[in-house]
Amino acid sequence: MEDWIPDILEQAEKVAAKGFCDRCLGRMFGKLGTGMTNDCRGAMIRQALKEKGMDHDIISPCPMCDDVFDLMDRFAESVAEAVNDVESDNFLVGSRVDPLALKIEKETVQELGLENSESIKTELNREIGKLALPMIHRPVEFKVPQVVACIDTRFSEVSLDISPIFIYGRYNKLSREIPQTIWPCRVCKGKGCPRCNNTGKMYQTSVQEEIGRVALEMTGGQEHFFHGMGREDIDALCLGEGRPFVLEISNPRKRNIDLDELEMKANESELAQFHYLKFVPREEVQRVKMATPTKTYRVKVKADGKVNKEAVVKATLSFKKVCLDQRTPQRVEHRRADLVRNRTIHWIEADNFGEDTFDLKLETESGTYVKEFVSGDEGRTKPNFSEALGIQCVVEELDVIAINDQ
Ligand SMILES: [Zn+2]
Ligand SMILES: [Zn+2]
Repeated sequence: MEDWIPDILEQAEKVAAKGFCDRCLGRMFGKLGTGMTNDCRGAMIRQALKEKGMDHDIISPCPMCDDVFDLMDRFAESVAEAVNDVESDNFLVGSRVDPLALKIEKETVQELGLENSESIKTELNREIGKLALPMIHRPVEFKVPQVVACIDTRFSEVSLDISPIFIYGRYNKLSREIPQTIWPCRVCKGKGCPRCNNTGKMYQTSVQEEIGRVALEMTGGQEHFFHGMGREDIDALCLGEGRPFVLEISNPRKRNIDLDELEMKANESELAQFHYLKFVPREEVQRVKMATPTKTYRVKVKADGKVNKEAVVKATLSFKKVCLDQRTPQRVEHRRADLVRNRTIHWIEADNFGEDTFDLKLETESGTYVKEFVSGDEGRTKPNFSEALGIQCVVEELDVIAINDQ
């Protein structure tokens, strides 16, 4: 006899008196003794009780587990079938158990002060996992499983919880007519109405959809989410090396997709282009969203009158590492708090002079409103370029040409 058995016989008799099966009896002492199943542990305890004349009959079906363990082969098959239908490097089994069984278990443990019991869920998960393993050929992963197959033991139904995949990249926006992300219709909020031609969207497509659509197709995923390192206005292009982003795909049935293929297919788009794709961990979303890189812009400026090249160059030279007081622009005032921020203009260069036009290239601190810096936004940005030049100017076109991340 195992040396721990005599110490628990008194408690064990009270458990056995409830008519539980060997497995449930053994599980109430599941942390005692090693190298045996709860079934075998229970049988040993019952034998010891019998020898002392303290045994009780098993009620059928078991008042705690309702003999659910008899169905484990079927559960394992269902789990294997569901998991084998998706691609992953690993998996984990979870279970939903009849609440009545959990209630009886909890009451028994509390009533008898059982300190070494194991929960029915833990046993089910482990035992189903063991049976499913040879049918799945993937390792079990406890900490960060890519797929959790949750079996509802009442209906033998399996639901899969598939962890999302995250793909980092940089995009170029080549159209002044699409937004960065899906923009739900203002009227119907995405449901579809006459205003949006039943698309539910303000714009037919977006940078997000140009790659998200392809990624969904390749992964068999459910939804795509787009996390950009900031965003540009709809009418702005994003050129150069592009803007960093992370694309998130929920419930992917295939996760090890060929990113070269994704890039190639997404780049059939004439509106956006994508490069430097790579798989990243979830944490990268936070980094990309929180980053505050300086940005380089090229803007086409129109002045309110003829411009003198020397005067423009002189104005540009006055903005070397200059800190602005920038009040929330009038154009975004309705959706942002009205406050004054300090933003730095690192440098400006001018070229491409016309009669009343010229281009500026400028590097600014993250979060600078460039159009307002040029126009002055009726005195809300100070100092500003129009003031320095002495002629009112407006931005006609704005392109992002570099996002200086790392
Ligand atoms: Zn039982
Ligand atoms: Zn609508």
